[in-house]
Amino acid sequence: MSFPMTPAEARVDLSAIRENVRQLASHAPGAEMMVAVKADAYGHGLVPVARACLEAGAGRLGTAYIREALDLRAAGITAPILAWIIPPGEPLEQAVGHDIELSASSVSMIDAIADAAAEAGGAARVHLKVDTGMSRGGATAAEWAALVQRALRHQAEGVIEIVGLWSHFACADIPGDPSIAAQLAAFDEALHIAEKAGAGGSHVIRHIANSAAILTLPQARYDLVRPGIATFGLSPVPRLGGFGLHPAMTLVARIALVKRVPARSGVSYGHLYVTDRETTLGLVPLGYADGVLRHATNVAEVMAGGRRRRIAGRVCMDQFMIDVGDDPLTEGDEVILFGDGSRGEPTAQEWADSLDTITHEIVTRIGSRVPRVYR
Ligand SMILES: *Cc1c(COP(=O)(O)O)cnc(C)c1O
Repeated sequence: MSFPMTPAEARVDLSAIRENVRQLASHAPGAEMMVAVKADAYGHGLVPVARACLEAGAGRLGTAYIREALDLRAAGITAPILAWIIPPGEPLEQAVGHDIELSASSVSMIDAIADAAAEAGGAARVHLKVDTGMSRGGATAAEWAALVQRALRHQAEGVIEIVGLWSHFACADIPGDPSIAAQLAAFDEALHIAEKAGAGGSHVIRHIANSAAILTLPQARYDLVRPGIATFGLSPVPRLGGFGLHPAMTLVARIALVKRVPARSGVSYGHLYVTDRETTLGLVPLGYADGVLRHATNVAEVMAGGRRRRIAGRVCMDQFMIDVGDDPLTEGDEVILFGDGSRGEPTAQEWADSLDTITHEIVTRIGSRVPRVYR
């Protein structure tokens, strides 16, 4: 291995990400692609992932916050970027100055964006968001026409340019859920209202599809798709399989300490694991501060010495133990927490399943103490 010896690292295969982007594009012919790179690109590293996605043909990037978009600009990335969560006090002027596209979900929000654009001496490029049934971001159906009208007024004043009309699914990962058709119908109705008011046109991009919708709902692709989790090779609908995606991250650690202990030794806080015979324990230097969830105690598996081992006892802040029986184990040996499964190691999906969560949480939780290493 050409990797340096670090206690633990998250290896990110950028060629897998590029391949996933190309594969997702083939599912959405004719649509543009905006990869969601929020939350440090789902823990994979904002800038390297963004560059890989753009190299593979994605035309746009999406972030939750303006500050994430500014980080991309600071790294020299010039592609269009949309930031979609705009709490009060956000640096709107700076966003307009750096040509970051902004989402607006309410009349007061479009007014604040228009004010900032006037201050900045430019026009803010805005995507108007409609709530089609998730009841999270977006204007409700009752407020939508007013938002469109206000945006058009600001557009006439030259401080706003309406570049997108968009929404987000609540249940795209549950194929057949009746809310999906209802949201599509509500989206079409909102598009109709906007177009009738004069906020449409071929230059305005319409978008609603996340990873699950890209892979399971052709009628949801419109002009642009917004993959997140699938970009990283993780299935958006695990019960339908992996869709041929390539998991990009391998989380590894090196055994920090090996010891032989007698039978009936209580291991780690609370003695939640007790050895049933004389055995060899290994200390793995990753803990809940690094994103190994405390719920993984006595539950999740890792690969060590060519075999699966269940975490033995409480996951601590910085470390956990494994019990390898009489198998050989040496300090410095590599332990794989999860990877693409090709070496028999667990996958992020297995971690998610065993911890009753989704892979999004498994990968985004990996802490800043764990270096990301690229190949
Ligand atoms: C995170 C996010 C996405 C991507 O979702 P996935 O389910 O990870 O594909 C798309 N759009 C918005 C608005 C998001 O917040």
